[in-house]
Amino acid sequence: METRSKKKRAGWGTRGEPLRQNRELKKKIIRFCRGRGVDLVGFAPVERWDDAGEVPPDFRPRAIWPPAKTVIVMGLAMPLPIVETTPSVVHMEMYKTANAELDQLAYDLTRYLNRLGHASFFFPRDGYGSMKALRENNCAAFAHIPAARYAGLGTVGASHNLLTPEFGPRVRFVSVFTSAEIPPDPMLEKDLCIKCEACAKCCPKKAIRMRPDRVTGDYDDRACLEMAEELVARRCFPCGICTKVCPIGKDRTLYKEPGVMKKYLREAEALAANPEDLEYKAWTHLRNYGVAKGKKQGAGKE
Ligand code: SF4
Ligand code: SF4
Repeated sequence: METRSKKKRAGWGTRGEPLRQNRELKKKIIRFCRGRGVDLVGFAPVERWDDAGEVPPDFRPRAIWPPAKTVIVMGLAMPLPIVETTPSVVHMEMYKTANAELDQLAYDLTRYLNRLGHASFFFPRDGYGSMKALRENNCAAFAHIPAARYAGLGTVGASHNLLTPEFGPRVRFVSVFTSAEIPPDPMLEKDLCIKCEACAKCCPKKAIRMRPDRVTGDYDDRACLEMAEELVARRCFPCGICTKVCPIGKDRTLYKEPGVMKKYLREAEALAANPEDLEYKAWTHLRNYGVAKGKKQGAGKE
């Protein structure tokens, strides 16, 4: 597998004009992304899926669209103070907005590449139509998380989220496949997850279990889906508590709040004891309006 220490792929640097043109193309794509407000962009050669051998063959870019040579992954950040309100209608609306924006970006970049003479294809942000579809087949036809990792944007944490240096897991991705061979970005060598266990401790469904022998934990996708179904029924999907509590990400320096990790870890217990706990008042206020009535919500409550 390619990493930062092995920046040059075989062939790159020996192709003269095509190499220069493809570097220019990369610059154009990066300019396109910057101009459209994309927070992160990375480039992965399709061979990385085969080299890593983690993604089943039918789910790899060339199986989905044979002309693919490069996958361009774009990311949009999810501002921390809004993620902290989850589960809430405020969080749901931001999530929906980010998803719609990502699909629009992928659509626009695909057409931009077409205009530049490069055959392209995109896989939308969410490749499923309903919770029922996920219950029958709990994954999409293509996964953006390995794509983002192969594009050098981050590493997979205990929670199975992609952690990025910039935003931790508070970022959403979309992928554009193109037939152009674009100079790749190096993958991150060092795991960003510090195995702090906050995601496992705060998950309301105990869907994440830490593993002593590796960084990624055991993940109970059925338990996580159950949480998602409950929140869809209440119109405040998704959960995302594991993205909220992860300490990784430079975005935290902007919103610095002393003691916030302790606040997260105590939240479920504190709100179970006192739903009006003043320390969590701003979050519970946002959770208690604009969603189907029922039991009042504190993050971490089942
Ligand atoms: S999204 Fe919620 S239920 Fe699913 S793993 Fe993360 S914290 Fe647990
Ligand atoms: S919360 Fe801690 S253990 Fe979980 S993914 Fe983030 S750094 Fe890793």
